[in-house]
Amino acid sequence: MLFRRFPEAIWQGLGALVLTGALSFYAIVLARSTHSPPSLWLANGALIGWLVRKPLADSWPLLLAGSLGVVGAKQLLGDPLGSSLFIGLCDAVEMLLVSTAIRRRFPAITTETRFLELARVGLLSALAGCGLCTFGIVSIQHFWPNMAFWASFSTVFRAHFLGMVIAASTSLVVASKGWRWSEPVGKPWTLVRDLSLLAVMTAAVFAQLRFPLLFLIYPPLLLVVFRHRFAGMVIGMAIIALITTVATTLNLGPFNLVTGDTVALRVVMSQVFIGASCLVALPVVFALAEHDRLQLGVRESKLRYRMLADNSGDLVMRIRPNGDRQYVSPSVKELLGWEVDDFLKPRPDLIHPEDRERIADVVRTLHAEGGTTTATYRLRHKDGHYLWIEAFARLVASPDDDGTMEIIYTGRDVTERVRVEQALMESQAQLRTITDNVPAVIARLDMQQRYTYINRFVEEISGESPASMIGRTIREVRGEVVYGQLQDHLRRAYAGESVLFEYEATYLGKLHQFQAHYVPDRDGDGVVRGLYALTTEITHIKNVERELLRLAHQDSLTGLANRRYFSEHASYKLRQASQRGTPILLALVDIDNFKSINDTYGHATGDAVLAEVGTCLRRLMGKGEVVARIGGDEFVVLCDDVVNEKSARAFVHALWERLHMTVTVGGACVDVRMSIGAAICTGELTDDVLMKLADDALYMAKDGGRNTYRFLTRGLESEEAR
Ligand code: GH3
Ligand code: MG
Repeated sequence: MLFRRFPEAIWQGLGALVLTGALSFYAIVLARSTHSPPSLWLANGALIGWLVRKPLADSWPLLLAGSLGVVGAKQLLGDPLGSSLFIGLCDAVEMLLVSTAIRRRFPAITTETRFLELARVGLLSALAGCGLCTFGIVSIQHFWPNMAFWASFSTVFRAHFLGMVIAASTSLVVASKGWRWSEPVGKPWTLVRDLSLLAVMTAAVFAQLRFPLLFLIYPPLLLVVFRHRFAGMVIGMAIIALITTVATTLNLGPFNLVTGDTVALRVVMSQVFIGASCLVALPVVFALAEHDRLQLGVRESKLRYRMLADNSGDLVMRIRPNGDRQYVSPSVKELLGWEVDDFLKPRPDLIHPEDRERIADVVRTLHAEGGTTTATYRLRHKDGHYLWIEAFARLVASPDDDGTMEIIYTGRDVTERVRVEQALMESQAQLRTITDNVPAVIARLDMQQRYTYINRFVEEISGESPASMIGRTIREVRGEVVYGQLQDHLRRAYAGESVLFEYEATYLGKLHQFQAHYVPDRDGDGVVRGLYALTTEITHIKNVERELLRLAHQDSLTGLANRRYFSEHASYKLRQASQRGTPILLALVDIDNFKSINDTYGHATGDAVLAEVGTCLRRLMGKGEVVARIGGDEFVVLCDDVVNEKSARAFVHALWERLHMTVTVGGACVDVRMSIGAAICTGELTDDVLMKLADDALYMAKDGGRNTYRFLTRGLESEEAR
């Protein structure tokens, strides 16, 4: 109930007050009984351990209470209030200085703290704090009238410093470790037993006056330190200090062996002895603490890594130079079906026969050259099937510190990955076979217009190997002339368009015609990252196309244009003439009695006659005239450069005359006569109308007895029409 009613700070303050009060009271009483300054001042140090565990803002009440404890003790013993308050203030300064120095450097003191560094900071700050405090105390209080200022200073300083070392360490240990005193041995009673031995030995040494047996105290002290580290040292030192100061006060112990000793000398000797004991124990205990800390770190990191290895899905091994395993992770069971024990000896038999030699080489090289290596190989599962393992191995000095090297091996199952890679390689090979054998050039260009891929077919066209093109730009490879034709299409394809076009290029002195299809290559986000170009050679197709066109427009027997070609051209020429307003002449030429030529001399002779007429007509025609065979023995002539009707008549007459011929075929002479129907027109006319007109004129010529010509006109004054 009482605890609950008051806040914790009040209880702590009271505790600090009682602690420093009691320790001060004890030191002053002891000092007064020998009429000397106190030989050991524990109060300040005792509070330090407490102060360094608290934040600065929370430590003021404790500091105040601790100082009041000192003042209270002095008041109880009848000292004047002024000097008591001043000395309390000096003690507060000392405690504040040391605790602040430690707290700034070590905000939290734990088992991880580097105790050697803590000791260095603690000792340096204690030297400064004790020096300052002692100077203050000695400047107002002369403990001993015979003692000079500096003699008093050094005695009080030693008392404070020793007290600080002993009490501060004790309270720090208590504060940081709680009351778990027994590490590292483990059982509390061993601490009690060892401390009892020290106490008995110290008491025995100080209980006699005859022999200088102080050294006998060190073995039990070191035993306590070795066994119980900090706890052993601080309690052990407290016991030694207590017994030494009490014995010195009571004039007991080996210090009395010194001839002519005085109280002051005995105090100094007791301080020197306590200090020397501290100096013996402190380095040992700090070194041991550091050792423990490092060992703990090593143990923990070993445990951590062991835990990692034990729980890793990968196979982890430590392999000795002779192949024996120092360690095999339990994952071997899950991975390969084998027990750890099955794997402790070298198992080359588990390596796939095709990989065995290669892996032996890798291991030999690793041992010879050191460093790291990786290898992918097949290991046999206990079930008999093989797994692909990707192993990473490093040659390191054995952690067992026996001077040998060993291999740290990490292996992981990559069967699935290898399978996918193999499938990918196969499909790539298939794709390459296809693309290399396609009769077209397949290429990919990056955004800088450099070839990143080109198939083998290109070599057949250009004579250049695909490998020599990779990495070069299309401009460098195809040259300026071809690039000029491609440039615009490339730009469009890079802009995201699919482009189909034709172009020409000369390779090895031969003109080739190509059809190219450029398709943008887009990434997952649809952004163009290059383009694919499919280029087919179409020279042959173009030639066939031209031939077909020619055949479609040509009469095979005479080599003249056929009716279709004529129709296309006639309408075009008519349009031109009507736009110009000039006359146009169309003459239909028909062989007279051709049927009887066929009948008399045979069809072949008929053909020869037709061919001869064709040749003759072609010879007669000028540049602007079109001549065609439009039926069996019927020809047509279209002429758009006649100036007027007269010149047209002259043209037709000349034509009629020239076409009188005798064709000699196979010994037979065939007289060939013609009838011509001509139409001459101006203005807007269709070819059908013009043809009809000419046909009418031809009919008139045939009707008029054949071997003659007739004229019909349209749109101009004509004698015939009249
Ligand atoms: P007309 O004086 O009235 O013109 O009498 P024709 O005998 O010439 O009669 P027509 O012009 O109507 O006859 C054309 C003939 O031409 C009919 C056909 O047997 C013949 N013929 C058509 N094409 C060919 C061919 O390619 N070769 C040969 N040899 N004869 C053909
Ligand atoms: Mg005829």
